[in-house]
Amino acid sequence: MKPKLILIGNGMAGVRTLEELQKIAPGKYETTVFGAEPHVNYNRILLSPVLAGEKTFDEIVINDRSWYDDNEITLHTGRKVVSIDRKHRVVLAEDGTEASYDRLILATGSQPFILPVPGKELEGVVGFRDIHDVSRMLDASQKHKHAVVIGGGLLGLEAANGLLKRGMHVTVVHLLDTLMERQLDKPAAALLRRSLEDTGVNFLLEAQTEAILPAPRALAEEPPRVGSIRFKNGTEIPADLVVMAVGIRPNIELAKSCGIHCERGIVVSDTLQTYDPRVYSVGECVQHRGNLFGLVAPLFEQAKVCANHLAEYGIGRYQGSVTSTKLKVTGIDLFSAGDYLGGNGYEELVFQDPTRGVYKKLVVKDNKVKGAVLYGDTVDGSWYFQLMRENTDIADFRETVMFGRAHMADSGREGQSVMGMSADAEICGCNGVCKKTIVDAIVGKKLFTLDEVRAHTKASASCGSCTGLVEQILAATVGNYDQTPKEKPMCKCTEHAHDTVRAAIVEQGLKTMDAVFKALEWKTADGCHSCRPALNYYLLCAWPDGYKDDPQSRFINERVHANIQKDGTYSVVPRMWGGLTTPNELRAIADVADKFKIPTVKVTGGQRIDLLGVKKEDLPKVWGDLNAAGMVSGHAYGKSLRTVKTCVGSEWCRFGTQDSTGLGVKLEKITWGSWTPHKFKMAVSGCPRNCAEATIKDFGVICVDSGYEVHVGGNGGIKIRGTDLLCKLGTEDEVKEYCGAFMQLYREEARYLERTAPWIERVGLTYVKSRIVEDEEGRKVLNERFLVSQQTAQVDPWAERVQGKEQELFQPLRALA
Ligand SMILES: Cc1cc2nc3c(=O)[nH]c(=O)nc-3n(C[C@H](O)[C@H](O)[C@H](O)COP(=O)(O)OP(=O)(O)OC[C@H]3O[C@@H](n4cnc5c(N)ncnc54)[C@H](O)[C@@H]3O)c2cc1C
Ligand code: SF4
Ligand code: SF4
Repeated sequence: MKPKLILIGNGMAGVRTLEELQKIAPGKYETTVFGAEPHVNYNRILLSPVLAGEKTFDEIVINDRSWYDDNEITLHTGRKVVSIDRKHRVVLAEDGTEASYDRLILATGSQPFILPVPGKELEGVVGFRDIHDVSRMLDASQKHKHAVVIGGGLLGLEAANGLLKRGMHVTVVHLLDTLMERQLDKPAAALLRRSLEDTGVNFLLEAQTEAILPAPRALAEEPPRVGSIRFKNGTEIPADLVVMAVGIRPNIELAKSCGIHCERGIVVSDTLQTYDPRVYSVGECVQHRGNLFGLVAPLFEQAKVCANHLAEYGIGRYQGSVTSTKLKVTGIDLFSAGDYLGGNGYEELVFQDPTRGVYKKLVVKDNKVKGAVLYGDTVDGSWYFQLMRENTDIADFRETVMFGRAHMADSGREGQSVMGMSADAEICGCNGVCKKTIVDAIVGKKLFTLDEVRAHTKASASCGSCTGLVEQILAATVGNYDQTPKEKPMCKCTEHAHDTVRAAIVEQGLKTMDAVFKALEWKTADGCHSCRPALNYYLLCAWPDGYKDDPQSRFINERVHANIQKDGTYSVVPRMWGGLTTPNELRAIADVADKFKIPTVKVTGGQRIDLLGVKKEDLPKVWGDLNAAGMVSGHAYGKSLRTVKTCVGSEWCRFGTQDSTGLGVKLEKITWGSWTPHKFKMAVSGCPRNCAEATIKDFGVICVDSGYEVHVGGNGGIKIRGTDLLCKLGTEDEVKEYCGAFMQLYREEARYLERTAPWIERVGLTYVKSRIVEDEEGRKVLNERFLVSQQTAQVDPWAERVQGKEQELFQPLRALA
């Protein structure tokens, strides 16, 4: 018999927990849900658009009855649980329904705080929490005129906007002098107030409600209805409807009544367990490390961790969250995240354009973004949030950061307002996904997170430059689900991020993949296609002479040491040091092409010769002949040093200042064979005319009269990025040392599949300079480590296979009789 799981609270956090559980351990429990509301699970966030007439209730349902049925979950709607007998593990609902449990989840949410003022119980005084509240407001809007919203926070302003759209005369009453003071600084709040006033909302700031008064004509009526509000200063305003939006209080009465430890909320540990280990709690009813919650993003994280424990994986800890906020009032663009007020030790970067109604403030500490407030132009909100999330060093683009991502060396697409784009506008260039496809998937498949949109539409799943746009579409379609700043796991097999895993490999001396799986509690027995290649690289980099490379954890091209082509044949590129070749090498290439009937011979962009159309079974023989002529693998298929492109330099060119070809050859001899997080390309140009295109390479050298300019972090692919100047050097020996040190830093610190360009943008050029240019001793140590690792890396993989290694890989498939 299956163990029994009961969920009390059919809201966003509780049902999300069940969804997560279904994903990882479907059918593990016999599950029953009790919900006090007479509805299936719906998106509470979107009550504001329902109130404003922009959505219907049906459009905000997350899981309809069939979802519960399909997952064999018993749902009791309209049944409030009134007691829990923890000794016998039974819950009892108001209507007498009983159910027993082995595990219990309390997800009772919270309720609106109602000011304890006289008249609070009058008819027409409502909170703003559920669809019932919205119905009452809509009813009032049809019969009455004056609405007063008490509370100028996010909820109050969304309520005011909705009621205004329903034709009511709306006044927002706020105790303080700043609207949304928990999200906005004063200048942004003033702009917001002005915009809302322009739409017709009235404001009474610094006003303290003293009493809610009944309508005189209704005194005799039952129940008596609200008629006006009186403030401490004696003034009164008419009010036929009063919406209290002054905060929320966690629903903890039920938990308290059965002896579960509560303070302001139900106290839970990092595993979301209450003091009774059989009883879990998630959502707004929870108090975790002293904090309460009011936005969904952290609740969804809690749901994930809780499900993980219910599935008995025993890993995953909830460690708190930082959130960002957007106001869902059509026509008002507002974004706020993190520590937006700053203070001592913080700097403020501010951009203001009063004519356009734009205000942007970034709060920065030690060149890291700690908080952001954007008003009027929120296009870059998700980018700033990402900078916060990843603790990115902004020193190198500090001067332009306020102008947004479009001013970075980027595709520039982030500069557009996504909601202004047409339905067929292409959002993801890589995968050809248009806005409508994304919106349809979000609505139709009920997607909530960026990862889900990626999985269903592939939008932003490739180069990622449209991530900001996809996040905006997500936020505009379903509300604000921005993920909180936390480590992004390497893949679905682990909760740990790349950097954490790498650190653990070194610090804990983990030398095999199994040791990593065990020490870091991998969720899968053998990892997956995503984490295995990364781990193989990290282990190889950390233990160059101790770790045995695992070919099975490499991508196909690296396994067969050639590039697979679209017709299933392979391309073979022999190494030509610095782009130099000889008649003998060319003769050998020509002979091989003839002998093996290789259909195409082509010169590559990296100054090498590519033999295209080689059959798999011919590969070892082709390599054998090339080896015999002195040529080794060009690693044109690997996450490794590819080519060093050179120009003819001072030896032939009349502009040449140094021997660029000679230096290129030396650099290639030092660095060939090294495995790197992603492909690594180099070039050396003999003068600033830069014929070898050194300024779009990972490591580029421009020779000048006085020596060598060293450039790093260039990229010539889909997303072109010019290099950053690292430093100027006087001698070839220095260039070689800097090259080794730079490659080793990149090898040790970049994440797998991260090119040098995004890596440098992430860690900052200042950081790279501090390690390579300013720290002489550190540079020498890095270079030394690089040279040591090269001792085992510089083995020609072709020669090994010519000798018979892995020959089964190159056997032709036997024809079926
Ligand atoms: C109008 C509005 C706009 C919002 N906008 C945003 C936004 O833009 N971004 C954002 O991140 N967040 C927003 N929120 C907050 C977000 O909706 C909440 O954080 C989230 O819904 C909380 O989820 P929960 O599961 O903890 O509680 P809920 O979703 O409230 O679910 C709790 C459920 O438990 C039920 N329940 C309580 N006691 C019992 C009992 N004894 N027996 C059975 N059932 C019980 C309740 O009836 C309720 O259905 C908004 C909220 C509102 C009301
Ligand atoms: S980069 Fe300068 S030295 Fe090299 S080929 Fe071009 S012009 Fe000549
Ligand atoms: S540019 Fe595109 S088509 Fe051409 S080789 Fe590269 S990936 Fe293939």
